[in-house]
Amino acid sequence: MDIEREILETDILIVGAGPAGLAAAYTIAKEAEKASIEMPEILLIDKGSYTGAHSLSGAVMDPKGISELIPDFKDKNCPLEAEVNKDSILYLSEKGSIKLPFTPPALKNHGNYVISLNKFTAWLGEQVEALGIDVYAGMAGYDLIVEEGKVSAVQTVDMGVDKEGNQRSNFEPGSLIKAKVTLLCEGVHGSLTRHAFEKLPELLENSLPQAYLTGVKEVWEIPEGRIKPGEVIHVMGYPQPQHEYGGGWVYGMADNLVSVGYTVGLNSPNPKNDPHLKFQMYKEHPEIKKILDGGTMRHYGAKTIPDNGYYSMPQLYHDGLMLCGDSAGFLDPSRLKGIHLAIKSGIMAGETVIDALQANDFSKDSLSGYKKRFDASWAKEELYKSRNFHGSFKSGLMMGMFYTGMQMMFGINLFNRRVNKRDHEYMLPIDEYRRAHGEEPPKPLLKFDNNYTFDKLSDVYKSGTMHEEEQPSHLQIADFDVCNTKCTEEYGNPCQHFCPAHVYEMVDNDANPGRQKLQLTPSNCVHCKTCDIADPYQVIRWVTPQGGEGPNYTNC
Ligand code: SF4
Repeated sequence: MDIEREILETDILIVGAGPAGLAAAYTIAKEAEKASIEMPEILLIDKGSYTGAHSLSGAVMDPKGISELIPDFKDKNCPLEAEVNKDSILYLSEKGSIKLPFTPPALKNHGNYVISLNKFTAWLGEQVEALGIDVYAGMAGYDLIVEEGKVSAVQTVDMGVDKEGNQRSNFEPGSLIKAKVTLLCEGVHGSLTRHAFEKLPELLENSLPQAYLTGVKEVWEIPEGRIKPGEVIHVMGYPQPQHEYGGGWVYGMADNLVSVGYTVGLNSPNPKNDPHLKFQMYKEHPEIKKILDGGTMRHYGAKTIPDNGYYSMPQLYHDGLMLCGDSAGFLDPSRLKGIHLAIKSGIMAGETVIDALQANDFSKDSLSGYKKRFDASWAKEELYKSRNFHGSFKSGLMMGMFYTGMQMMFGINLFNRRVNKRDHEYMLPIDEYRRAHGEEPPKPLLKFDNNYTFDKLSDVYKSGTMHEEEQPSHLQIADFDVCNTKCTEEYGNPCQHFCPAHVYEMVDNDANPGRQKLQLTPSNCVHCKTCDIADPYQVIRWVTPQGGEGPNYTNC
C-alpha cells in the first residue's frame, strides 16, 4: 500500500549525532559565519533517545580532533575523566601475566584523555545546539533514496506498526527528508550506509572488505585506590586463542569508576566465537579480578569496531552524499582509536559543504573536495601508516607483532598480509573447526554468578536497552529454514553465541519434535551489529527499529 508521507526539505541532512555528525554540523555553522554566508538549513537526526544514547567506546581520546574543532574545549567544560598518566601492556596466559618492558609507540597514550564517549557526545551536542542547530534525537533513518544515481532523500522509520506489519491506531508514517547533500555519520556498519553500498556499488570498487571486532564493556565502581584516574592498561592474550585477533583494556575513570572491556575479531574461524563469554572469562583472570573484585558493575554495552583502516575505506563521496566517521572506516587499527578521526572527518566534510553551498553544486565533482582535504590531512597520514596493521595478524598474535614491528620500525611490509575476505567467510563449520583447533572454548562454560560475572540478560539490563515489543522485528531473517536446518547442522547456530545480548536462542520446535528452531527477542538488542556482519549465511539483516529505542548508555 502506498503511504502518503510528509516531505521535509533541508539543505543538509546529517544522519547520526556522534562525534563525526556533530563535528560536521559545528563546522558548517562556524564556517558559514566566517564566510559571511547565510546559515544553511541543517537537519541532524539520530536514532537514540538522546544525544549520546548510542555512543559507546573504551575510550581513550586523542585530543587532536576536538582541539581542532573547539580549541578551548577544556574551558567549555568538555567532560574528560582524566588525562592519561600511566600506560602499560600486559600479556595474559590463563593464570599468569607478563608486563611488557616497553610500550609500542602506537599504544603510548600520554597527552590523551580517558573519556566516557556517551558523556562526551552529549556535551558536543550541547555545543552544536548553542550554535542554533537542533539535534532531532529519536528520529531513525530507514531507507536511503537514490534517484538517477544521486542520493536525494532519507525516509525515516514508520511508527505504530504491529509485529505483522499492520498499522496500529497510533500509526505515524515516516517522513521523507529531501536534502541537497546527505552526510551519513551513523557509526559502524550503519544501515543507511549499507543501503548506499548496495545502491551505489562503485563506492566500494577500490576497497578491501572491512574487518570488524566486537567490543564488550562494563563500567565498574571499585574500592578507592585500586587504579588511578588516567591509568591505562592494554591487555593481550587470554582468553583469546593465539590464532585469533583481539584483546582487552582497563581504563581508570574519575570517581572510582573503571572501564573494562574486551574486543574479539569477527574473522574468527570458531563458530562458537562468543565475545561476551570471552569478556567474562577475561574478568576472571587474577590480574583483572584484583582490580574489580569487591566492586559493583554499573553499566554494560557492546558495539562493533571497523578495524581494517585505510584499505577498507570506501569512496568518501558521491552525488549528494558524504560518508564520515566509523561509517567510512575512520579508525586507526594500530591504536584502536577513532574518535579524533571521526571528528576530523566531520570537519573536512563540513568545510566541503560550505564550498558546495557557495558554488550551489552538490555533485560528485564538487564533493570530491572532501577527499582532497583528506588526502592532505594528518588523518590520511595516520591511517596510511597503520594500513597493514590488521592484516599483519592474519597468522596469529606472535607473527602479527613481528610483522607490525617491522612495519613500524623500518617501514617494511614483508608480505602481502591484506584482508581479502569478509569476516563471516573465515568461519569454519563445527567439524572442520574441531579438526583444526579442538573444541572451543576449551573449558566448561563459566557459571555466571551475576555478581562478578554476568549472563547476557543481566548485562543487557545495565545497558538501559528499551524497545517496544509490538513492532516488526528489526532483525530481518531472510530464511528461517536455513537457520533451523543447514546452519544447525553445519555451524551450530553461531548467532546464539556471537550476539552479546541474548537476542538469538534455539528452542524446542513443537511442530517438529526432536528438532530446534530459532527464536528471536529483538527487544534485547543493543544495536552492536555483530549479527549482520558475522552470520555465515548472511541471512540476518539489521534494520532500524522505531526511533528513540535501543540502548540508553550513560557513562559508557
Ligand atoms: Fe548485536 Fe545483532 Fe545481538 Fe542486536 S541482535 S545485540 S545487533 S548481535
